[in-house]
Amino acid sequence: MRIGIDLGGTKIEGLALASDGREIERRRIAAPRGDYEDTIRAVVDLVAAIEAAAGDRGTIGVGIPGATSPATGLIKNANSTWLNGRALEDDLSRALGRPVRLANDANCFALSEATDGAAAGAHVVFGVIIGTGTGGGLVVNGQLVIGANAIAGEWGHNPLPAPEDDERPGPPCYCGRSGCIETFLSGPALARDYIARGGPDVTAIEIVSRADAGDPVAIGCLERYESRFARAIATIINTIDPGVIVLGGGLSNIARLYDRVPMLWGRHVFSDRVATRLVRARHGDASGVRGAAWLWPA
Ligand SMILES: [Zn+2]
Repeated sequence: MRIGIDLGGTKIEGLALASDGREIERRRIAAPRGDYEDTIRAVVDLVAAIEAAAGDRGTIGVGIPGATSPATGLIKNANSTWLNGRALEDDLSRALGRPVRLANDANCFALSEATDGAAAGAHVVFGVIIGTGTGGGLVVNGQLVIGANAIAGEWGHNPLPAPEDDERPGPPCYCGRSGCIETFLSGPALARDYIARGGPDVTAIEIVSRADAGDPVAIGCLERYESRFARAIATIINTIDPGVIVLGGGLSNIARLYDRVPMLWGRHVFSDRVATRLVRARHGDASGVRGAAWLWPA
């Protein structure tokens, strides 16, 4: 049995998978915000509850909103900031009495979809999560690619390619740069663009509904969004040439992206044709926790 834990900022989700990927047990608890020791205890209790319900012991993989720094062995880049600077993998392994594998949550998402999701069978898979941020993960031959700096797939903090005059220098990003892809493609970025063109303060998904209803301002925002998405993802296609790009997160529910973006990316890709497929995640919100479970091989 494989156990996956998705250690989010507001909730911790745990699930047990049978060897064939069937879900045996799933539980969700509120995350103890801001307290590291309580977080460790919460994960231990969650694993104990899942194993008691399943009547079996499992391997344990954990997805986190950050990464273990190869330089220090400590967590970095987590927006659950109480995890940063901590030896989370060692501390969890000790508390759980077995080795624990830790990975970035977008990497877990990519691994889940490449293993038995919408990208199953593809040689090179790029997984993208677009919601409040713009994360990514890379899977090659079924194996997660972590990278020398543990940032493989972090396309969101590259600058937006081929910017128009009004896209330069671009909005400031929390990473300290300006004009990062994330500042154009995240949900809040789409909402900001709608306000900038005179629309009200509504969610990204509401902007899509308004576009479907014929709102010309909302339609303009989505067309700009699709152009930016196509330019941003074309540089990924040119670099790693994935067979499948799989989308998750709140903005993956924008149905028109799957038709429009591939119509636009050709002019930015260095190829006569583009065979890459852009698809929606099969496992939806469960992909993070499923991918954490898949961090252990059979
Ligand atoms: Zn940035």
